[in-house]
Amino acid sequence: MARTIVTSALLYANGPLHFGHIAGAYLPADVYVRTLRMCGDEVLAVSGSDDHGVAITISAEKAGEDYPSYVARWNGNMRATFDALDIRYDIVSGTSTCPEHPELSREFFSKLMANGYLVERQTNQLFCVHDDMFLADRYVEGTCYKCGSEGARGDECPSCGTWIDPLQFEDPRCKICGSTPEERTTTHWYLDLPKLRDDKIGGWIRDHEWKTNVEKFIENLLEDVPERAITRDMSWGVSLPPEVGEAGEGKVLYVWFDAPIGYISFTKELMRERGTPDAWKDWWQGEDTQLVHFIGKDNIPFHCLVFPSMLHGVQDGYVLPSAVPANEFYNLKGGKFSTSGGNAFDVVKFVEEWGVDATRFYLCSTMPETADSEFSLEQLIQTTNTALAGTIGNLATRVLKFIAKNFDAVVPELQESHREEMDRLILEECGPIEDPAAHVREFRFRRAAEAVVANATVANVFVDRMAPWALRKEDPAKAASALNTLCEWLNWQARWMAPFMPTKAQQLWEMLGHSGQVSDESWPGIPDAGSWRGLTAGAALGNPEALFPRLTAPASEA
Ligand SMILES: [Zn+2]
Ligand SMILES: [Zn+2]
Repeated sequence: MARTIVTSALLYANGPLHFGHIAGAYLPADVYVRTLRMCGDEVLAVSGSDDHGVAITISAEKAGEDYPSYVARWNGNMRATFDALDIRYDIVSGTSTCPEHPELSREFFSKLMANGYLVERQTNQLFCVHDDMFLADRYVEGTCYKCGSEGARGDECPSCGTWIDPLQFEDPRCKICGSTPEERTTTHWYLDLPKLRDDKIGGWIRDHEWKTNVEKFIENLLEDVPERAITRDMSWGVSLPPEVGEAGEGKVLYVWFDAPIGYISFTKELMRERGTPDAWKDWWQGEDTQLVHFIGKDNIPFHCLVFPSMLHGVQDGYVLPSAVPANEFYNLKGGKFSTSGGNAFDVVKFVEEWGVDATRFYLCSTMPETADSEFSLEQLIQTTNTALAGTIGNLATRVLKFIAKNFDAVVPELQESHREEMDRLILEECGPIEDPAAHVREFRFRRAAEAVVANATVANVFVDRMAPWALRKEDPAKAASALNTLCEWLNWQARWMAPFMPTKAQQLWEMLGHSGQVSDESWPGIPDAGSWRGLTAGAALGNPEALFPRLTAPASEA
């Protein structure tokens, strides 16, 4: 059986989860997992928060909160957002709370060191005498030596994007107290990415088949791979393993080093909770495991180069990613969804107002798969009213309500003599039928969402051709056969919808008289004349109700 680990980028616990993240890395993962599970694949879905790093400690200090409660707040916000959007993982944890995380991260460090992939170096770093600490990354500010902009941070210039070496600042300032820091010598460990590239990862990256937009991104990645420092002088984070001795005191692993290890430590946490503490190995070190990372494009270097290098470097038989379906950026009305810029809105409230499945479907149908794309409320309303209410909802409601009124609310009977004509008409002549799962497996979620609607259009064409409402008067037996055929179609429609719109799919499933969960059904694929019918004539149907009430734009948006 195919075994797949699906991970979504760990949320940086420094702000809310916004639609940019959701459309980029979380909703596609959820749709993928739901689809694979219905197809019978064994899937493990892992996500959580990335809790360390200087951006977090600075923000927490500014908010007057201690670090653990600060990250717990954003982790809680993330969970609430997942709940609101019906996005499910087997585990959602956090790198500062997962009990297995520090030890496994140190184990990675130790094994990389033992295997010759870490380099220890003395470097000069800025030290604030007033605060008695080395100033890691954003704890230093100064004027950008590339573009002259004043608010450059010790890791990056927000104006021009240059990766900053803080020692090159002419006017460095301590972010905490504003005083001028001095240079002092400190020891750090570097991941030898050039060596790992030459050993294996370079060849692996070149031979690997990547999604087209990822391919573009990694073409230049290998040219100029630097060693990357994986330690920092600060207290919030995973401390170094004891064998590095005194030089490791007051230092922690750099956040980008320990964060991706979270995918594995969270799996260990889950398997311990399930009472099978060694089962994580079957996944992460199993030969036939597919590892799929859902991320935004800004995470491509880490997931296509750095993390695979780490996984290979520890020499423990870890699987390397089989696919990294990175998405482009999803923007809000021209600007970026931002956690710090005040441009984000409350996702949970939004979903309460506009509906979880309408939101999921709209995000799927506009996902930034190959290019940046944009979110707009007017478009969401339009998509819901045309594709969902007009095409799928209208089909289900008019068929089932008509049956409730005229056929005793049971599955009407199919006359054997009509079978061939009905099958030919709906399966061959009313339009192309697509398998949404085939698109999902290729990470084409927009096409997949379109296919769900296109399949409903097939049935609407069938309704137009057969005109069962009129036919009932002249040929009631044939009208019954047509309505039976439409019930069968809705029975497929509910299963096709399930990964994308789980609540509405379940509602439709119950309207068809089923009592179980539609998500527990097998994936239907594409109907075949010999075997596609599964309903029993005379079986009671459920209560027909409007699946997708029409949405109206708020006055201020019009
Ligand atoms: Zn700059
Ligand atoms: Zn200071």
